[in-house]
Amino acid sequence: MNQINVTKTFFPPLEEYQVQLERIWANQWLTNRGELVLELEDKLKEYLSVSNIVVTTNGTIPLQIALKLLGKGGEIITTPFSYVATTAAIVWENCTPIFVDIHPEYLTIDETKIEAAITNKTTAILATHVFGNPCHVEAIEAIARKHNLKVIYDAAHCFGVQYNGKSIFEYGDVSTCSFHATKLFHTGEGGAMFCKDLSLQHKMFYSHNFGHDGPLAFHGLGINGKMSELQAAMGLAVLPFMDEIIKERKNIVDYYNAHLDFPQVKSIKIRENTNWNYSYYPIVLESEEQLLKVEKVLNTNQIFSRRYFYPSLNTVGFSKGNKMPIAENIASRVLCLPLYVRLSLIDLQNIISLISAELC
Ligand SMILES: *Cc1c(COP(=O)(O)O)cnc(C)c1O
Repeated sequence: MNQINVTKTFFPPLEEYQVQLERIWANQWLTNRGELVLELEDKLKEYLSVSNIVVTTNGTIPLQIALKLLGKGGEIITTPFSYVATTAAIVWENCTPIFVDIHPEYLTIDETKIEAAITNKTTAILATHVFGNPCHVEAIEAIARKHNLKVIYDAAHCFGVQYNGKSIFEYGDVSTCSFHATKLFHTGEGGAMFCKDLSLQHKMFYSHNFGHDGPLAFHGLGINGKMSELQAAMGLAVLPFMDEIIKERKNIVDYYNAHLDFPQVKSIKIRENTNWNYSYYPIVLESEEQLLKVEKVLNTNQIFSRRYFYPSLNTVGFSKGNKMPIAENIASRVLCLPLYVRLSLIDLQNIISLISAELC
């Protein structure tokens, strides 16, 4: 029986990957911002319509660099509903996560609750555009300005998302993305950082390359966050397929929406004025009990949905957060259904009928 997972990495035609690898062999150059990395940055800049981009070796290191530069060991206001990397990066950089609960429908940080969490130790807000759904960026920017805080967006899920006609990566002091194999666009492992302010962008840039100012001098402290040519080769082979990939995923999402239209299942509410990327298909069920039943019947049929995001990050041992009633409640009931290019109509219908039979 074929196993269906929540996602399936997109593999470009092998010949197209080989074309890129041949360039690497011809150059005899594997890393340190070679030709392919620079070309990938140029092409992504154009594809995403962003003012600048630095690609990195994963999507966690740019969060760490941003927190190192902007968080400065202080309190970071953040969301409990994200992948563990968001909170882990805060703790790893010796900052303190201060959780603020989420909006029950958008699933992003509840901007109306941020101000109450600000103290004189707060340095920054690190919020996640969950499943590619933008946070209330205007309200967050206004709060940050008023209290002189920095804003970092974990935009790991946001490849190609536009909000109010511009790339979501253009919001915040720093925005980051992940190009992990399970993400919409991927380089196997990889990521990127986006930053409009040129002096901060300069710091972010040298920080990802050991602080180098040429081979013999240093601007300051740095770490190794560089993307290699091998990663860029995968990115260059995948990028031409992105429009097609997003279109095909939209069809699957539309199909789910049309056929899972009953009161026991709620799908995510995408913020107004968003050009979404169809990166995930989360459903929120009525109870955890119901979720476990649905998960079990799917698993029995070799279909592996995933409890994204569970548990709520304020309950994870290293983060010691306050209770977050909405995030904890949603996290106990949310399930991401399989969504990937070439998920067949038969499999899709099977998933839907198993869920319907269990719930209705
Ligand atoms: C995937 C992900 C990350 C981490 O990205 P990596 O490229 O795996 O390091 C961070 N935040 C969120 C929300 C993610 O989904």
